[in-house]
Amino acid sequence: MTSKNRPKTPRRLSLPSVTKRMTEVVIREDITPTTPDQIPSRKDKHKRLQEQVLQQWKARMVQPELDQDQIERSIVYHTHYTLGRHRYNVDKLAVYRATAHSVHDYLLQSWNSTQEQLHKSNPKRCYYLSMEFLLGRALDNALYCLAAKNLFTQSVRTLGFCMEDLLDKEHDAGLGNGGLGRLAACYLDSAATKEYPVWGYGLRFQYGIFKQIIKDGFQLEKEDAWLGMDNPWEFPREDTQYDVRFYGYVATKVNDQGESRLSWEGGEVVKAMAYDMPIPGYRTHGSGNLRLWDCQPQSTFDFASFNHGDYADAFRDHNKANNLTAVLYPNDNHQGGKELRLKQEYFWVSASLQDIIRRFKRYKCSWHDFPEKVAVQLNDTHPTLAIPELMRLLVDVEGLDWDIAWDIVSRTVAFTNHTVLPEALECWAVPLIQHLLPRHMQIIYDINLFFLQKVEKQFPGDRELLRRVSIIEESQPQQVRMAYLAVVGSHTVNGVAALHSELVRTQLFPAFVKVYGADKFINITNGVTPRRWLYQANPGLRNLITRALGNEGWVDHLDELSKLKTLADDAQFQQEWMQVKRQNKDRLKDWLRTHMDIYVSSDALFDIQVKRIHEYKRQYMNILGVIHRYRQLREMTDEERHQQVPRVVLFGGKAAPGYDIAKLIIKLINSVAKVIDEDPLVADLLKVVFIPDYKVSLAEIIIPASDLSQHISTAGTEASGTSNMKFVMNGGLIIGTVDGANIEIRDHIGEENIFLFGTLADQVPELRHQQKYHGLLIDEDLQLVLDDIEAGVFGDPSIFNPLIDIITYGADYYLISEDFHAYLETQKTVDDTFKDKAAWAKKSIMCTAGMGFFSSDRSISEYAERIWNIKPLQR
Ligand SMILES: *Cc1c(COP(=O)(O)O)cnc(C)c1O
Repeated sequence: MTSKNRPKTPRRLSLPSVTKRMTEVVIREDITPTTPDQIPSRKDKHKRLQEQVLQQWKARMVQPELDQDQIERSIVYHTHYTLGRHRYNVDKLAVYRATAHSVHDYLLQSWNSTQEQLHKSNPKRCYYLSMEFLLGRALDNALYCLAAKNLFTQSVRTLGFCMEDLLDKEHDAGLGNGGLGRLAACYLDSAATKEYPVWGYGLRFQYGIFKQIIKDGFQLEKEDAWLGMDNPWEFPREDTQYDVRFYGYVATKVNDQGESRLSWEGGEVVKAMAYDMPIPGYRTHGSGNLRLWDCQPQSTFDFASFNHGDYADAFRDHNKANNLTAVLYPNDNHQGGKELRLKQEYFWVSASLQDIIRRFKRYKCSWHDFPEKVAVQLNDTHPTLAIPELMRLLVDVEGLDWDIAWDIVSRTVAFTNHTVLPEALECWAVPLIQHLLPRHMQIIYDINLFFLQKVEKQFPGDRELLRRVSIIEESQPQQVRMAYLAVVGSHTVNGVAALHSELVRTQLFPAFVKVYGADKFINITNGVTPRRWLYQANPGLRNLITRALGNEGWVDHLDELSKLKTLADDAQFQQEWMQVKRQNKDRLKDWLRTHMDIYVSSDALFDIQVKRIHEYKRQYMNILGVIHRYRQLREMTDEERHQQVPRVVLFGGKAAPGYDIAKLIIKLINSVAKVIDEDPLVADLLKVVFIPDYKVSLAEIIIPASDLSQHISTAGTEASGTSNMKFVMNGGLIIGTVDGANIEIRDHIGEENIFLFGTLADQVPELRHQQKYHGLLIDEDLQLVLDDIEAGVFGDPSIFNPLIDIITYGADYYLISEDFHAYLETQKTVDDTFKDKAAWAKKSIMCTAGMGFFSSDRSISEYAERIWNIKPLQR
C-alpha cells in the first residue's frame, strides 16, 4: 500500500493519546526534549496540537492563592472530599489532615515549578543517598516556609479550631535513629532554601524508629506505625517503579555487537515504587524533593495456590516483599550484620541508581558527561553498594568498557564518613554478599584487584601496605570492608568536624592517604537548619532577635547573628533575653506537668542531656555526677544547702533494643530519679527526670529551655554532634569534652562562653593502654558513688553489677574514671557562674551570636562548591 491510499488516521482518534502525553508534560518532572530542527512537518502539526492541548491544561490549572478565603475553602474541600468527613463529625485530627492536604497543594505548585525549571536548564544535580531522614513534623515548617502561618492560623480559627492543637496532632516522621538521620533532614532543608538541585533518596519504612515507653524504670519498645491511614505529605508515583533482583547466578551472554557480557539472572525480583515528599525551602518559589522507595510485592496473589485451598501460601510472596521496607534498624553507631539489612541497602541503592540513570538518559548526553550531570553523595557507608551497582549497570547493562565505567563512577561518587568507632564500621561477610548479590561480589573483587595492582605499581613490594588497604579483609570468613570500598570508589571523602576529619586521615585511613595523597580527604563541618531549630522552635527568641537586628534577614544568612554581640552587655537586652529563656523553661515545665505529672521550678538551672543512649556519649558519667551531687547535698548543713543552685537534670534518648548496657543506664537514671524524688531533704535543690520517647518534636520543646546541656563524649568518639549546635544557637551554654564540633563551637563563641574539660583525643590511646596493663586509679569521689550503688541506695544493686564492672574490671574503655574529677570541678564552675545572672545572660547572648557558622546553609554550600560542583537554580 502506498502512502497516498493509506487511510488517514482520524484526528479524533489520536486525541486521547496526545492528551495522555500532555498530562505528563504538565504534571510530571520528566519531559522528553525534542530538537526543533529535526522535526518533520507531520510532527510539526502534532506539536501544534500538543501546544493547543497544553494551553487547555494550563487554562484549567487550579492555582490556589494564599489568601484566607481560598485557604478556608481548601480546608473545607479536603475535609469533605479527601477525607469524606463533615462539619458534624470532624475532630482535631481530621482538621489537621485536611489542613495538611491543603498545605501540600501549595507545596506541589512549587514542586512542579522547580521540576519545570530543572527540565528547562538541565543542570548538574546532586543525589543525597541516606538510609535515614529524621524529618519530624512537616506542617509548622511548611507554613513558615510559605510565609503563611498567620493566614492558616486565622483560617482554622474561623473554622473553629486552634492551630497549636492541630500541629500537635501530627505524628513525627521518624525515619532515622539520631544525628545522622537528622543531619540529612537539615541538609534537605538547606538545599531547598538555597535552591540547589538536590534530591534525597531513602527508604519508605512502614515502621520508623520505635516508640520508647518507660515501665518500672526500664525501656520498652513499641512499634511506630507512622504512616497511619494516609500520609498527606507524600505523593505515590505509580509510574516510577523498578525491578530489583536478589540471589540468582551470573551467566555469560553475547550482545548485539558480538561481545560477550556477564549477566545476572534468576533469583527473585521485587518491585520498588517511588513516593515523593516535597521539601519546602524557606520563602522560595520552588521545592526540593525526597524520594522514598517502597517495596511492592511482585506477584500480589498466587491464584493457583489459592484455588488449591492453600490460603497462606497465596500470600507468601506478598509478605516476603513487604518485609523488605517494613522496619528501620534501630541501631545508632552500631552495625548488626543482618541479611535483611543488606537487602534493604541494595534495594534502595539499586532503585535510586536506575532512577538517576533513567533521568540522565532523557537528555541524550554521552556517558562521558555523566559526572558533569550527576553527583552522588553517600551518607555513611550504608549506600556503598552504589559503587558496584553503578559499575554493573554501566558495564553489564549499558555495555561500557570497565575502565570507562570506572572513570565515570569514581568521578560521580563522594563519601561522607560519620564515625571512627570500630563497632560502627560496616563489614559484610563475603559468603553473604556472594549469595545475595553474586555479580556484585565479582565486581568488588575486580575493583579490589585493579586497585591493589595500582598500589603495587606505586609502592613495589610493600605487602604490608597491600594488606592494609585491601577491600577484602582476610578473616574467617572473608569480609568486605565497606568504608574501604567507599574510599576507593569516591573522588572525595569528607569527615564531619575538624577533629573528626583529622582522625579520619590519621586513624581510619592513613594507608589511603599514602596512596591517594591527603587532598582526597577533606572536612565539612556539620550544621543544623536555623529554620526548624531557632525560628520555629523558639518564637520568643526569634522575635527578640528580629527586633534587635531590624529584620528577618538572619534566618537564611545566619552570620547576621554576630551583630547581637554589641548588645551582649546591654542590661535591658540581657533582661529581655533571659525573659525569653524563662518563658521557654515555663513551656517545658508545663509540658512535664501535663504529660508526665512532674513538677519542676523554672528558677532551677535546667541541665539537659538528650541524645541516643550510648556508652561513648557517657550519660553514665552524667548520672554518676548526679549521685555525687546528691551525696554532697545530704552531707551539707541546712545553711550550706541554702547556698546551692537548684538543678533540674533532664535526660532523654533511646537505647538500641539489643544494647543491654545502654538500657541499664536508663534504668539507673530512673532509679536515681525516684530516690531523689522521695527525699525531702533535697526537694527544692535536685530533681532528675527521664523524658520518654525523645524525638524531633520533643527536641523542639526541650532545646530552647536549656540553661546548660551536656556533650561529654570520650574525646575522639563523637564525630561532630549536632544537638550541641542546636542548644548553643538557642542561647544554651554547654558543658562538654574537647571533642567533635564542641571544639569549633568554642572557637566561634569564645572559650569563656563554654565549659570544656577532660582528656584530649590524642591522650586517649595511651591512657587506655595504661589502664589496661597497669590498672586504673579510681577517684575517691567516684568510689563513694559506686559504693552507694553497690550498697543498694538506688534499689536492688545486683541488677547494676554490669555497670559497676565496666569501670572496675572492664578497663573503663570510655575513660569515665579518668575524666570524672575534671567533670565535677567543671560542674562546680557552672554553679558559680549561674549565680551571676548578668554574666550568665551575657554568655547566653554570645552563644547565639557566634553560631552563624553552624547553619546547615553553610555546610550545604560547602558540599555544593567543594564536592558536587553544582549551582543554585537560576530563575
Ligand atoms: C539533633 C538530634 C540528635 C543528635 O543529637 P546528638 O547530641 O548530636 O547526638 C538526635 N536525635 C534528635 C531527635 C535530634 O533532633
